[in-house]
Amino acid sequence: MPDIIELLPDSVANQIAAGEVIQRPASVVKELMENSVDAGSSHITVIVKDAGKTLIKVVDNGCGMSETDARLSFERHSTSKIHSADDLFAIRTMGFRGEALASIAAIAEVEMQSRPHEEELGTSIVIRGSRLVSQEPSACSAGTAISVKNLFFNVPARRKFLKKNTTELKHILTEFQRVALACPETEFSFHHNNTEILHLPPANLRQRIMNVFGKNINQQLIDIKTQTGVINIQGFTGKPEFAKKTFGEQFFFVNNRFMKHPYLHKAVQQAYEKILPQDAIASYFIYFEADPSSIDINIHPTKTEIKFENEQAIWQILNASVKEALGKYNITPSLDFDTQGLIDIPAPDRDRPLKSPEIPVNFDYNPFEEEKTYKRKEEFHKTGSEKYENWEELYKGFHSAPGNEPASKSQTDMGDKEGGSSGLFETTLCTPVLMQLKNKYILTPVKSGLMIVDQKRAHERILFEKYYGAIGSGSGIAQQNLYPVSIELSSADYALMDELLGDMANLGFDIRNLGHNTLVVYGCPADTGECNPKEMIEKLLQEYKDTASVKEDIKEKLALSVARASSVRNKGLSPEEMQEIIDKLFACQMPNYSPGGKPIIKIIKMEEIEKKLK
Ligand code: ADP
Ligand code: MG
Repeated sequence: MPDIIELLPDSVANQIAAGEVIQRPASVVKELMENSVDAGSSHITVIVKDAGKTLIKVVDNGCGMSETDARLSFERHSTSKIHSADDLFAIRTMGFRGEALASIAAIAEVEMQSRPHEEELGTSIVIRGSRLVSQEPSACSAGTAISVKNLFFNVPARRKFLKKNTTELKHILTEFQRVALACPETEFSFHHNNTEILHLPPANLRQRIMNVFGKNINQQLIDIKTQTGVINIQGFTGKPEFAKKTFGEQFFFVNNRFMKHPYLHKAVQQAYEKILPQDAIASYFIYFEADPSSIDINIHPTKTEIKFENEQAIWQILNASVKEALGKYNITPSLDFDTQGLIDIPAPDRDRPLKSPEIPVNFDYNPFEEEKTYKRKEEFHKTGSEKYENWEELYKGFHSAPGNEPASKSQTDMGDKEGGSSGLFETTLCTPVLMQLKNKYILTPVKSGLMIVDQKRAHERILFEKYYGAIGSGSGIAQQNLYPVSIELSSADYALMDELLGDMANLGFDIRNLGHNTLVVYGCPADTGECNPKEMIEKLLQEYKDTASVKEDIKEKLALSVARASSVRNKGLSPEEMQEIIDKLFACQMPNYSPGGKPIIKIIKMEEIEKKLK
């Protein structure tokens, strides 16, 4: 048999390789911009015509190339960035595979002008479909300018696959944004069809994000900063109320390289559980700094996928830092109750960047522990006239009129206070006015306007945090029923209940299993109100099944189901009950959102009210 294997000519090999690196005009923009960044440029201009189909030009003021380097740069595997395989694990540059320019030159017409700063003359090179057309000395500016014309001119099948201009331009802008966000100190400009559509001056991270996405994003960003031996994390995560249902503002960078990382995305998303509406996706701009030897960038030709040596640990660290940032945000001064001059709280200014919160946060704080409530009250007496920095502080003023004595345990629980005196929560001149609307909302004036609290969601949040804590610690208190109630269930429900009985006992349910699909309820948690055990169990089962696919944690599901089953529905509330809901809501860790992610509090600003009454 004759030999049939031949080595492909370089031009063909390059075209094949190009397919991996260059899929569309946006890939060219990305590769050229990254080369300019690697060249140490402080100013990079991107010029595009017809969404890159006619022209992509990137001009930089970086180090430039010598005559020989300029020619060599178009060869496959030609790079100045690594020298040996070991270097693959010490990468600090964007590029290192030495194939971008070779790939681009294989499928387009490329002109390059380059001059090192110390040289008087530079080099001009034209290459078309991997073939050198011309090379000559050139009196060009210091730095490098590369023009890519007629992309895919020799690969008609690929050119046909290009989408309409608006789509290709969108891809280009996405790549432009990623590089621009990775390098905030570098100045960038972007021109399309002879119009400058973006100019990004050198900036810090927050300013760069604002310059790219518009000023309004500023108020949506919460700072994140964590330093550990494994990894350093900094950047911003979005306030939950601004989360969108579509992807678009999720950015991870590792050592200033944009990366996609679905696993770590989950770490962020999971930190928002219970506070994001369903299907909403958190926004984030998160910058990791990792030891280059602990990451592998070389797992994909476009280098947007990165493998970490220590992925699980990083998941945990990231998840914890986002949670911490969100926790701090939750207690920063977003509320400013109008307490008729009792305490003076500066109204928050939305345009002012949030000061990195330095509020001491007690993550072990149990809002339902009575002792601490008293302590806070005493503290208030001591410091009554001071300015308050956070709502917990501010909130002390609420229920602490002089002369009030601590209430007994039972008085502070919802549901069993009918007719009881309301010691701790008695309204006084110092307490803000609370009003109920349509048995659904609690209204109260605050300094910036009118605060509306959804009473059912608030109660759900309060009970959820309480029950979740109780399941964990087994601290739920049962209230015995007058008569034990026996309940017969379907086999499926019975099996489900059987699984839950242990956790339910921790919550305060006293239920015994008689077998044959029958349970007897002797007692329900002390604060489930006028509990009809049969109804309660049925509601609970229904809620549990409804949340089953959403939540993974059984305890959380159970806490949520019981909270939903026992929270006050549209019901008239006495001033004391309203006060109690408000009190306990603001003692919660996440007062702004219901456990299902719906908003609990809204403030209608004075300006809005005034506008309406004009
Ligand atoms: P890589 O970036 O992976 O090294 P490229 O094919 O993108 O490979 O570029 C090849 C080489 O050309 C680079 O290593 C660099 O030395 C040089 N080069 C490319 N673009 C520029 C530029 N804008 N300024 C200076 N040198 C450049
Ligand atoms: Mg490169």
